[in-house]
Amino acid sequence: MKYEVVIGLEVHVELLTRCKLFCSCPNSFVPEPNVNTCPICLGFPGTLPQMSSEALQQALIAAVALNCEVALYSYFDRKNYFYPDMPKGYQISQYFVPLGSNGHLMIKDDRGENNKVVIERVHMEEDAGKLIHAPGSGASGSTSMVDYNRAGVPLIEIVTGPDLRSPLEARRYLEKLKSVMQYTRVSDCKMEEGSLRCDANVSLRLSGSQPYGTKTELKNMNSFRAVEKSLEHEIKRQAATLERGDNVITQTLRWDENTQETIVMRGKLEAQDYRCFADPELAPIKLKAEEVEKAREALPEMAEARAQRFINDYKLPEYDAGVLTASRSLADYFESCLKLYNNPKEVSNWVMGEICAHLNNAGLDAGQCPFQPEDMAELLKMIDDDLINGKIAKEVLEKAFLSGKSPRQVVEEENLVQISDHSELEAIVNQVIKDNPDSIESYRGGKTRALGFLVGQVMKATGGKANPQLVNELLIKKIDG
Ligand SMILES: [Zn+2]
Repeated sequence: MKYEVVIGLEVHVELLTRCKLFCSCPNSFVPEPNVNTCPICLGFPGTLPQMSSEALQQALIAAVALNCEVALYSYFDRKNYFYPDMPKGYQISQYFVPLGSNGHLMIKDDRGENNKVVIERVHMEEDAGKLIHAPGSGASGSTSMVDYNRAGVPLIEIVTGPDLRSPLEARRYLEKLKSVMQYTRVSDCKMEEGSLRCDANVSLRLSGSQPYGTKTELKNMNSFRAVEKSLEHEIKRQAATLERGDNVITQTLRWDENTQETIVMRGKLEAQDYRCFADPELAPIKLKAEEVEKAREALPEMAEARAQRFINDYKLPEYDAGVLTASRSLADYFESCLKLYNNPKEVSNWVMGEICAHLNNAGLDAGQCPFQPEDMAELLKMIDDDLINGKIAKEVLEKAFLSGKSPRQVVEEENLVQISDHSELEAIVNQVIKDNPDSIESYRGGKTRALGFLVGQVMKATGGKANPQLVNELLIKKIDG
């Protein structure tokens, strides 16, 4: 490689709080515009903002989870700009003293080695409103509308150092960051709802050289995949520019999902253009060292540690441990099931397979799973007791999942109890043998596969309810007998 890639990321994460940062409007995603608003977040003159202590607590948890040093004294600044998404004419942010600084996250680099990504700062700020552009009757033939539901929603901005060396590393960092934010319940990190937003800056320098090249900024990437793709695209573009002997120009680019290309938005706005100064209306943020320590001690077990524990304590394969700890709620669900039915691999198979598939289909998080751990235990015990077979169990799980009924209720109502009665099965087996002389012939001729077909016929005749092991035994006995 002639050039070394240098990437830094700025991520905005919406905090999971009940209220907005400086007023008591609900912090919730609603489709109807301008309903979560009040004079404070609409920037009326004469209103007085007051910081939500819940938001501070969430930001503090995020900062310690990202291994940051926490400023015991920090404050809010006004970042001045004029744009309709910010009715006050300024955004309240922490410019001079961030709440957290000098943190890090560990990720795997392209060679599988550990890479320590420095987190330069974690600061609190308020979100802006949302502009919606639509064709309409304006002077230019279009209309722009503004929705202030999001204005004043608490955010943290997390800024890395220039420590990422490839688009893949950038993606791994984002996945790790998302996992930490979700495990600490600081944010739900739903990219499609905008609760995690990522900007990237990228530059190239000659391999082995010290000074950084000129960087460009990428915006509007709506998925981790888009981040990776747009970085790949921009790296190629910069390399081609340098190869031609031209200079890379400082600018902000937008990723276009349709054309899969970056488009120039504007020349970069420098920080001093915002004329930041301390907000005179808000009290400074003061924390005690004990509060920070308490937050550090209260951090939950994170995904990696939990996966390792699943491997050690439950003897699960690495793959299972990775899938089950992908989200805290799924890992919690798995462990709740285990408390009631202590067979880790069996439970893992059902959770990774059936439960994940149904949750996906329903668009639900494991925390909202209608098939409760109690239901899982009941289902697996019914299999152990030969009350139902594995195939019927999948059907029962689906019906219970969709209806909210217990598995036992589904089995009783739909008469799905396994047929283990000898005489009842014998009659069906006899009939199947009589109807399939060719298969009997080939089985006797040494084609054992024919037996599978015959078992299938019996299962079919019983609506899948026959005890498959018993059917197997009966068939062999009859044919060989
Ligand atoms: Zn408000």
